[in-house]
Amino acid sequence: ERVALERRMRETEKIAAVGNLAAGLAHEIAAPLNVISGRAELLLRPGEATDRERHLRSIIQQIDRITGTVRHLLDYARRREPRLRPCDLHAVTRGAMEFLDGELARTRVTWRVEAPEPVPVNADPDQLHQVLVNLVLNATQAMEQQDEGGRAITVTVRREGAALAVLEVRDTGPGLPEDLLPSLFQPFVTTKPRGTGLGLVVARSLVEEHGGTLEARNHPEGGAVFRLTLPLSPGAPRG
Ligand code: ADP
Repeated sequence: ERVALERRMRETEKIAAVGNLAAGLAHEIAAPLNVISGRAELLLRPGEATDRERHLRSIIQQIDRITGTVRHLLDYARRREPRLRPCDLHAVTRGAMEFLDGELARTRVTWRVEAPEPVPVNADPDQLHQVLVNLVLNATQAMEQQDEGGRAITVTVRREGAALAVLEVRDTGPGLPEDLLPSLFQPFVTTKPRGTGLGLVVARSLVEEHGGTLEARNHPEGGAVFRLTLPLSPGAPRG
């Protein structure tokens, strides 16, 4: 456990160093990329289906990807300390899902939140919101190839024992690729053509700054499950 923790800390330091560098360079990189992307778009002739167009589209797509990576690194580098306050994990979850409702409806994903009781935690609601949005959008993207009728996200929020708040996001997608499981939370691991592979890195680091954990597994009946734990608010009354 200690070795794993040390490894994770080294990874965190590594990404923090890269993030700081990106913060300094972002402007320098973003401005010329914008020009390149704009020029490539100008060269595109509408309706033309040639190699030339294919190459131009590829240039634009790859620039988008670099821009996304820089933006994510910036988010990471500019992260602030969590501003902890007493809140109900169930309410924060509901808020995030309602925020995403339009996007979920557009992509034909049905969702429900199961929460038998309030789950009091000391947390930064904005940061938890960010983590939830990330997990839910990942789940949505994973289900894109799925039959429209079969796309569902279930979020459960509950207490576990006397000290733990648990939140699980489960989807009905293809699940996590087995070979990705050991490296899922490492920087730049992605299977998406425009992915940055930083979403889960940022999500985990936010949760860990709250004294919590974020883990992933595949459900035996299919789909991916992300399990987030946080310390339960001490002295919170039950129910
Ligand atoms: P990105 O979204 O930019 O790829 P993430 O760190 O958020 O970066 O995710 C890393 C990878 O983890 C994704 O590319 C995808 O392969 C996998 N993944 C994440 N969430 C899910 C999910 N719910 N189902 C299947 N695969 C997932």
